[in-house]
Parts: sequence; C-alpha cells; structure tokens
Amino acid sequence: MDDKERIKAVGLLSGGLDSTLAIKIMLEQGIRVTALHFRTGFSFVERNRVAGREPSRPYDAERAAAMLGVPLEVIDVSDEYLPLVLHPRYGYGSGMNPCVDCRIFLLRKAKAWMEAHGHHFVFTGEVLGQRPKSQMRPSLNTVERESGLRGYLLRPLSAKLLRPTVPEQRGWVNREKLYEISGRGRKEQIRLAEQFGITDYPQPSGGCCYLIDQTYSRRLRDFLAHEGPEALTPEQVQLLAVGRHLRLLSGHKVIVGRHERENAYLATCGVEGVLLTTVDHPGPTTLVPGGPAREEIELAARITAGYSDGKEEPAVRVEVRGDGEPVKVLTVAPMVREEMQALMV
Ligand code: SF4
Repeated sequence: MDDKERIKAVGLLSGGLDSTLAIKIMLEQGIRVTALHFRTGFSFVERNRVAGREPSRPYDAERAAAMLGVPLEVIDVSDEYLPLVLHPRYGYGSGMNPCVDCRIFLLRKAKAWMEAHGHHFVFTGEVLGQRPKSQMRPSLNTVERESGLRGYLLRPLSAKLLRPTVPEQRGWVNREKLYEISGRGRKEQIRLAEQFGITDYPQPSGGCCYLIDQTYSRRLRDFLAHEGPEALTPEQVQLLAVGRHLRLLSGHKVIVGRHERENAYLATCGVEGVLLTTVDHPGPTTLVPGGPAREEIELAARITAGYSDGKEEPAVRVEVRGDGEPVKVLTVAPMVREEMQALMV
C-alpha cells in the first residue's frame, strides 16, 4: 500500500466552492478525506430551509460530499455557538459575524474529531486575503495557534503563500501541487472548478453564514438591546431571519410574514405570542411574541391589514388568536406604508 493511502485528513466543508475545491485537491493527492460540516444555527442553508427558499434542496454540504464521494459528518454545535456570538474575543466583522472566534471554535472541534478518529491533519478552504478581517495573514496565524492545530492546519488553496505545514514537510502532501490563490476574486477558483469538472456549486454569498448579513445583524443588535442576551434562544435566532420585523414605540416586536411559507413558519415556530391574520382579504400572518397589551395588539392588527390586499380599504377585519382570550375579530384601519416603514427594524 502506498504511504499516502494511509494518510487521513479532516476537511471542513461548508458546501461552498472553496471548501469543495480544498477537498478535491486533497483527494487528487491520494489523501483519505472525511468532511466535517458544523451546524451553527446561522447558516444560509438553515435560513433558506426555515424561510422556504429552495425547500427541496438538501444541505449544500451533503450535495458537495456526495459529489466528491467522501464521508460526511454533520455536527450540530448551535447550543455552544450562541455564547461565542454574544461575546467574541476577537470582535465582529462588518456585521455580527465573529469570524476569527468562529474559526477557532470550529477548528478546535475539528481537532478533537481528528484525534478521536485517528486522522493526521485538518484542512480548510480558506483563501489568504479573501475576507478583510478573518482571512488576512495575522488572523490565519491566530486561528492556527488558538485552535491548537499549529503545523497541522493546511489551507490547500493558498498553501504556497503560507508557511509549510507538517503534512507538507513530511511529504504526506506534495506542496508543489498546492495553490497560491489569494484575494477576493473568484476567477482562479472557477478555473480550478472547471479543471476538476465541478459544475454544481452555490454562488458565493459573501460569507458562510447570515451573521454577515447587514439586515440580520441590525435585527440581532436590536433584539439584544431590547430583550437582552438571555432571551436569545435558537428559536429566536431563526425567527430573526424570517419576515418583516417592526418595533412598536412601546418596545414590542411585530413580525409579519412575506409569503406563504413564512406565514406557516410564524404560526408554528414555537415562539409563544399572539397570531393575527386578515379575514376578508389575502394577507400575511403576523406574530407578536410574548404577551402584548391590548393597544399593541390593535397596532399589530393595523399592520397586518396594511400588508394585506385590503390596505386601500377604510376598514379591514383581522382575526386575533393566542392572547389568552377566545379567538376574536378586530375591525381596524390599515396602517399606511410610511408609518410601517418608520417602525421597521
Ligand atoms: S461568516 Fe463563516 S467564519 Fe464568519 S462567523 Fe459566519 S460561519 Fe463563521
């Protein structure tokens, strides 16, 4: 048996092009690869599933692993991940994305998995200089050091621009066949994908999770300011990614579905609160979490009517359920768009 056949490596797989290419490069060198995919609760795939976008597509990581023919371990770290989002040691990126802490956390997990399963090293699809903060050289070094993987963390796409790692020094991996990709451009990766015959990959989204998304980040900051970090549960994390979010002047939150799947989600997401729907016109489902006061329910009813097909009518009937009283119908004047815009988070 060739030496290389005994070398086993752990590759982090988000399902995006870079991590897919990194695995392909390792496979081409005869390395046996196990892909690890971590569910943090903030992935785009998770949000799309909740919000009903591309509902029939399996996780991108699953598709990528199947296409590459490598075993995939999916590990849910969402409970442990939340504190890291709230108190990142290395701060946030352009949104609420704690990328450096996130990489350290996930790579520590990968290291533990590697050791428990007799693998030799860990690799990722990180590209030097691709992201302004987390993938500059000092951050890559910090991540390597803090994850405990010093010398055992290979970045095949940028390896020739980085210090040789133990796998290269020991000849497990041929450094000459690794790459020197850097920067934000995607040309090199797309060319490499063509060369490897990889055609099915998601378009780059500017990050691997929605903590980088400005709208989501704004909502999360608003949530933490009004309701406090202790109120942030995994359900709330998902809820912040769904629908339109408005905050009444009283401080209460109102969430309005934008389409059928979001409406269905709001009605079944497990967050307690009052649900509103229009009676005579097609319209959204609205959730007012917690126990809103009567005036707040009335405002939420006006908002529900304002987003319904009855928005031009002088009065619209809105059904209210879940406020601790029998289901009732309120007749309200739809709120005008400008007023709703002013409440938007
Ligand atoms: S964008 Fe990627 S690295 Fe940054 S916090 Fe999200 S999952 Fe982690």
